[in-house]
Amino acid sequence: MIKNYVRRLLPSELHYSQSPQIGLIICSDSRVSPGVYIGKPVEPGEVFISRNIGNQATYDGKNPTPEVSCMIHELDSIRRIIIGGHSDCDAVEAATLPEREFEELHYSIRQGLSLMRKRLYDVAQIEGLRKAEEENVHNQVEFIVGYLKEYDSRKVDVMGMYYDFSTGEVSVININGNRNIKSL
Ligand SMILES: [Zn+2]
Repeated sequence: MIKNYVRRLLPSELHYSQSPQIGLIICSDSRVSPGVYIGKPVEPGEVFISRNIGNQATYDGKNPTPEVSCMIHELDSIRRIIIGGHSDCDAVEAATLPEREFEELHYSIRQGLSLMRKRLYDVAQIEGLRKAEEENVHNQVEFIVGYLKEYDSRKVDVMGMYYDFSTGEVSVININGNRNIKSL
C-alpha cells in the first residue's frame, strides 16, 4: 500500500518545478486536514503548505517564517495565502496557560509560542479559548497583509479561516485584514 503510494507518479509538468497558486498555513494538529480549507483533497502541486504549532506566519512579529517567505518571495505563482485556524487548538491553549504551567513546557515550545502568548493571553482569560483561536488567525493575517504592503507589490489575497471540529464547519473570518466577514 505504502509502496504504491510513494511510487505514485506526478504529472509530468511537476517533475522539475512547482507553481502552486495557494499558500496554506495551518496548525500541526493531526486532526487538521489541509483539504478542509480548500474544500477538497489537496492534489500534488496545488498547495504550498506550512505547518507549525498554532498556524503561525511569524514568530517575532517582524519576519515571516521561512515557509511564508517562500510563498511571498520565491513562488511567483501564489495568488492566495490562507491562514487556517481551528477549534480546540492545543497551541493556543498552551500559549495562554497560567505562568507556572507555561514554564513547565519545553523551552523550544515556549519559544515557538512566545509571540502568541503576548498577544493572546488576555483574550483567552477574558473571552475564552475560541476567541483566542480566532484572534490568532486575525493576527497572522494582519501580519502578512502588513508585510506584503511593505515588501511586495504582487497581488496576493490573504484569507483567514476557522475550522470547527464539533460542527465540521469551515468559516472565512478575515479577508485581507477585514475581520467583518460572516461566511462564504
Ligand atoms: Zn492547533
